[in-house]
Amino acid sequence: MNKLYCLPLGETMRNKFIEDAKQFAYGQAVFVVPGHILLDEVKKAGSVCTVIMDYLPNELLRANHLDVYTRISRPAQEMVIKQIIKSLVKKGELSYFAKLADKKGFIKNMVSFIGELSRGGITCEEFYAALQAWERTDYLQAKDMEIYHIYLLYRQELKKQKRYDVDGLYRLAIRALQKENCIVPWEKLYFSEFYQFDNLQIELLKALSKHCSIEVGLFYDAERPELSAATENAYMDFMGMGFIKEQLQEFTPRNQGLDHFVRSWQRERPLVGAADGIIVFEAYSVENEMRGVLGKIKQQLQAGVACRDIICVVRSMEEYNGFSNLFKEFGIPTTLPEVTGFTAQPLAKFIENIMKTVAAGYEIDVWKELLNNVFVDRIFGINHEQIEASYNEKYFASPNVLQEFVENKFPQSKIGELFTFIASLKSKSTPADFTNNFLQTLEGWSLEKSYGEVYKANKITLKQLKAVVTTKNMVTEILEEMVGAFEQSGQGKQKRPISEFLEFWEERAKEKIITLSQGDKLGIKVVEASTIQGILFPHVYLMGMREGQFPKVKFENWIYNDQERKALNELGVTLPLTIASMKIDQYFFAAVAAMAQQSLTISYYADDAAAASCYVQELQQYYEKEALVPTFYNTDVAHCYSAEELARILVQQEFLAVAEDVWLTNKLGVDFAFRKFLDKERWTGNNIFNGYLEQKQECKYLSASALDNYVQCPFNYLVTNIWQTEPWEPLEKETQPAVIGDLYHLALAKFLNKHLEENIGLADYSVLLEELMLDLADVYGQLAAQGLISESEFSKYDYKRYRIVLGKWLLAEQAYQANQKINLLPKYLELAFGRKDSTLPGVPISIDGEETIFSGQIDRVDTDGNNYMLTDYKSGTVPSAKGVALGRFLQLPVYILAVEKLLSVERSKIIGAGYYGLKNCKRSGGLWENTLKEDLPWLYNTRPNNLSMVMENAESAIVASIRGIRNSAFPANPAEKCPAYCPCLDICRYRVSDGTQDTGEEVEDNV
Ligand code: SF4
Repeated sequence: MNKLYCLPLGETMRNKFIEDAKQFAYGQAVFVVPGHILLDEVKKAGSVCTVIMDYLPNELLRANHLDVYTRISRPAQEMVIKQIIKSLVKKGELSYFAKLADKKGFIKNMVSFIGELSRGGITCEEFYAALQAWERTDYLQAKDMEIYHIYLLYRQELKKQKRYDVDGLYRLAIRALQKENCIVPWEKLYFSEFYQFDNLQIELLKALSKHCSIEVGLFYDAERPELSAATENAYMDFMGMGFIKEQLQEFTPRNQGLDHFVRSWQRERPLVGAADGIIVFEAYSVENEMRGVLGKIKQQLQAGVACRDIICVVRSMEEYNGFSNLFKEFGIPTTLPEVTGFTAQPLAKFIENIMKTVAAGYEIDVWKELLNNVFVDRIFGINHEQIEASYNEKYFASPNVLQEFVENKFPQSKIGELFTFIASLKSKSTPADFTNNFLQTLEGWSLEKSYGEVYKANKITLKQLKAVVTTKNMVTEILEEMVGAFEQSGQGKQKRPISEFLEFWEERAKEKIITLSQGDKLGIKVVEASTIQGILFPHVYLMGMREGQFPKVKFENWIYNDQERKALNELGVTLPLTIASMKIDQYFFAAVAAMAQQSLTISYYADDAAAASCYVQELQQYYEKEALVPTFYNTDVAHCYSAEELARILVQQEFLAVAEDVWLTNKLGVDFAFRKFLDKERWTGNNIFNGYLEQKQECKYLSASALDNYVQCPFNYLVTNIWQTEPWEPLEKETQPAVIGDLYHLALAKFLNKHLEENIGLADYSVLLEELMLDLADVYGQLAAQGLISESEFSKYDYKRYRIVLGKWLLAEQAYQANQKINLLPKYLELAFGRKDSTLPGVPISIDGEETIFSGQIDRVDTDGNNYMLTDYKSGTVPSAKGVALGRFLQLPVYILAVEKLLSVERSKIIGAGYYGLKNCKRSGGLWENTLKEDLPWLYNTRPNNLSMVMENAESAIVASIRGIRNSAFPANPAEKCPAYCPCLDICRYRVSDGTQDTGEEVEDNV
């Protein structure tokens, strides 16, 4: 007799079924559960054969000697579908989906949609008949027919190859059961904790019910249709199969508040009662939520509750990264294993980069990444850090140049073996040959031996050693899976390009996780809500009750949208709807909450993006007002549950007892008291930790550009000009902006040098242009010979750009010279002073009785013999007029002082100094005498700063800066926004410190 036990929420038939099953000889009665967590749970209870659903068809086929078909893996399914789609495109038989044909996402969606059809038990014929009855026209009909063809060809391909997917397995078993002499190895089957069965599973049970007795325990409560919607289909199916129904009543004792939830949730008129046993906990971040939950669990453990009596349930484990580490921090055992990502392992990256170097051909960046891996040091005897450092000094135009460089730098190494191996992968090969070649090479690296020695020498931990060995095993696993998938899809003997192997690798690698240590079986269980129900726990923590997280709506496959699915359902093609997954999600919540007998803690975190889940809000309506007010996790010395939390609280205390002080010193180091305030205090007064160094220093020599650096940000000056650190920046294909600036400066100087004191305003443009281009070519050649200009595929385009810029400059220059009323003409070019090799001495400025000598180089000085004008070319951004006025850019004022002193020009004769932007080839900015607008017409448009006013401000800024440098005052204090290219970005705390944020600095703006 087949029976369906309809259970109220939170009840299970599991224990009764287990007792029943014990009456049968082992294996005659089989207990079927939906997942591995429940499998373990039943196995714990005694000697009952317990399995998951897929065991049944497999075992049936084996018992009847029909297991001649082999199972196709999911990647192989994707390959088969990909091949089918490719061939349809080739034959011109795909129009609706033609544009998506080579998109990975489309292939995956098509595979999963075909899975839906199969699991729904829809044959190709039935699908076709439904589509015909649907009577869609035009492009929608084309879409339907294309899906049908793909489905049909897929089924035919599997049949041809004698393979089955998981759905085919059920079909074979159902067919076997229909045969007269079918052997069914069981007398009784029990099904417990299922909430749904797909069509094929129901068909299988229907066929099995004719051979053996079946009993099913299922949540179903006709008085709660909303909640029972999740199990409605299964209920109807069993009733349709003629199962005898038995309705059970609640029998599990619970705390009063929880009992009220179980009995009232989603009934039409919920009663109002007290919420004893239910706690709502609101956190402000996911970490705070985890900490809060662990704090509460620790409290319970300290009060004598056993780990087995507590469970943590989350909707999705992905949201709770680092949970196992926090368990460790709190000293609480857990079933969660300690895991790390496979793709983050150096070996996994190395293997992937080997494939990428071959697939990407001449892409130099991939080669650089390949060699910048700690692995190459150990296996091939080179030093990857030295190679990485060379990327800053030299641009490698091709992989060959880089290989040659590495071989020359490490002549004793075995790096040549790596290059030979990579070369051997270039030609197409079969997946098996490729894998054999790879695995043989991997074996040859003797990783276990090599890393075993490093471990023995105490240079790595056991966990790190384990990670290397596990990664190696997983590499082997993925490559072997790949061979299997190609074989299963009928492409095993074909030679394929490495890009296809790389694609397979990338797909599989991202799904792999390395387990560094197994969880403690006796620890606190942490599981996902979809995997558990029907097990009672005194204390349940239901985490992640946040909008968007729980309910977690699963949108159905877009190949057919919900509207289309509804229409197909009416035509007999049963496809899941989004609403159904919402009902199931709702059931998960109720089922997990109903597992609690003494306490249920519901937690979530709320921020600007989302707050408590709608389930929490709904739950509050079942209890008295204010009964479920959220609690928060605020720790203090008396209420904190991990050493780290205690340390964090103690360091904030103004006074510490001796024992606390000793404990903190041991934990954090002797200087903990000092460090705790550092991040805020460094910004107060003249703190040594904000660049106010104690030792005074001389400032005998200073270049104009270094002075500008100091004014822009003293800390930048300290790092760049005193410590003289170079930023770590690999050379790129593109020539560095500073070199481009030099190229323009030198080409212009070379050209103008031949036209000193000559007005070229009305000269023949084409003649001058030719001359200028020759000068450019000459300078370019010199810089290239010094290795400063990178020769790459972009070089010729860059060169064209330089020609255009200088051509534009010449046009502008001629116009300026033609239109000016005072005949200012270039007299001095690249006029250096105070430099090692310059003929002019430096400019001494005496401040507080001490002299500082300024050096610099003025791009250009023009004169008509009486008036003088200074020019600074800018290939980048031109300093703002406001910045110049406030004395934040001192280069031009220093140059004015230099011309005045070194060329003996009276200040009144210096009529101005300005910038000449090479981006737009325009003069702009600077400081000028106001009276000149008639004489220099371009000044009309530039609204220049007044020379005397700027000089006054600049002279005070120079004095303040020199005093600052002499006093060793180098605070991080940007005059304007921190520039994105500041070389100190990685070491300066200005933008990341609480201290500067508290001062209301617009930190974001400064980035
Ligand atoms: S990041 Fe800003 S504050 Fe820090 S050194 Fe650079 S400019 Fe100065």
